[in-house]
Amino acid sequence: MKAYEKNIRKADPYVPGEQPRHRAVKLNTNENPYPPAPGVRRALEQMETDRLRLYPDPEASELTEALAEYYGVGRDQVFVGVGSDDVLSMCFLTFFNSKKPILFPDITYSFYKVWAELYRIPYECCRLDEDFCMVKEDYYRENGGVIFPNPNAPTGIYENLAFVEDILSHNRDVIVIVDEAYIDFAGESAIKLLENYENLIVVQTFSKARSMAGMRIGYAIASPALIGYLNDVKYSFNSYTMNQTSLVCGVEAVKDRKYFEQTVRKIVDTREWAKERFRELGFVCLDSGANFIFVTHPEQDAKELFEALKEAGIYVRYWGSRRIEQYLRVTVGTREEMEKLFQFLRNKIRD
Ligand code: PMP
Repeated sequence: MKAYEKNIRKADPYVPGEQPRHRAVKLNTNENPYPPAPGVRRALEQMETDRLRLYPDPEASELTEALAEYYGVGRDQVFVGVGSDDVLSMCFLTFFNSKKPILFPDITYSFYKVWAELYRIPYECCRLDEDFCMVKEDYYRENGGVIFPNPNAPTGIYENLAFVEDILSHNRDVIVIVDEAYIDFAGESAIKLLENYENLIVVQTFSKARSMAGMRIGYAIASPALIGYLNDVKYSFNSYTMNQTSLVCGVEAVKDRKYFEQTVRKIVDTREWAKERFRELGFVCLDSGANFIFVTHPEQDAKELFEALKEAGIYVRYWGSRRIEQYLRVTVGTREEMEKLFQFLRNKIRD
């Protein structure tokens, strides 16, 4: 090792799902198979390139206001960032500064561990039970903060608000972050609990239900005090996180509630239909409340299946890590895409 290397921050990075360059049935990164709301296209067509000479609004006021109105919260309760990854990373930096370990599930969004290590935050993982569910009592011990996704990823399991509130009520002295990237496909949001828990932060994204993964927009909703702390850290880091195009398109997406609800409905219907098809083929699927399904087959090796699918131009996600080495995560695509998947699986399994 060169002498200067010992002072370099080493990171064990998050590995994002593959983005193939050729056309593929892409069921590997939980994107929405439908386009964004029609207003987004119109906004892009009408976009003045001259506006790009100028810096964007550092406060992202229009987008923040649109979100505040949508969720019935104050403008000072919303923080926006470059995808929820950016928002979550800012939250780790801002709120997890204790010497005590933060807690999150052992099988969950793998980025949590990456940020904890990057920012030198001590952490402990709480084991999911034999049904891949979180055990709420594990979060009753002393800690430096709590974060979990609801629904969890990659299991897709949704816990109801009583469960979330139970964790909150046992963790009033630390910050609790509920990562709701997939909540729109599942059930009630913890936003409702904000009035009783000023230590709660709810994080959501435009990448899934709003079909805008390519625009990179995420947001946090919390008490004005916590949003204030987040903004102070953001302005200490980069004032202009949100680009002009994302700001304009984001507002259009939030405005179109009807399109959003229709798209979510289509995905949920396809998900429930797909669960039945998987079960007919002998797969075991967890009861996902998200826009993906976590599946395993008692007679098919998951890694081999993953590779065979890829060879056939069908991309799903495989990790091969402990306890989930026989599982595949399949994003819910259009009905046609899912038909292609099941056609392939039928042939493979009956061979
Ligand atoms: N949280 C969870 C649980 C996720 O699965 C993802 C998607 N990779 C994200 C957050 C981040 O999504 P984005 O940055 O696109 O908003």
